[in-house]
Amino acid sequence: MNDIEKACHEKGMRMTGQRRTIARTIAKSDDHPDVEELHRRAVKFDDNISIATVYRTVKLFEDAGILERHDFREGRARYEPVTDEHHDHLIDMNSGDVIEFHNEEIEQLQHAVAKKLGYKLVDHRLELYAVKIKAGDDD
Ligand SMILES: [Zn+2]
Repeated sequence: MNDIEKACHEKGMRMTGQRRTIARTIAKSDDHPDVEELHRRAVKFDDNISIATVYRTVKLFEDAGILERHDFREGRARYEPVTDEHHDHLIDMNSGDVIEFHNEEIEQLQHAVAKKLGYKLVDHRLELYAVKIKAGDDD
């Protein structure tokens, strides 16, 4: 059983064959696919899976807190498994590549900002939209 299947099992979700295939497809992905991309990958294992089923299953996993949904300003949702390890994202505006990073200074700064405003930080999302620096460019 992969991590996604395990999480479904722990939440007491009824697993059909197609749900299991979609769970496996997600577990095998180490990027941030959208539903169409997940469908493209899932039909390699089972060509009876419809895009509607992928939509429904992804929504189910999202509602159960197994998948995290991202909106990287492309007009389509992208997904990744929820993990204990927090990371933020840098989006390459030319290629659409999504790069994961973790920066302890930023993490602490966000706590400090919230505290200064009289709040205790419980969660955050940080997305950097960037273009690659070409050789010869300064900034
Ligand atoms: Zn990520």
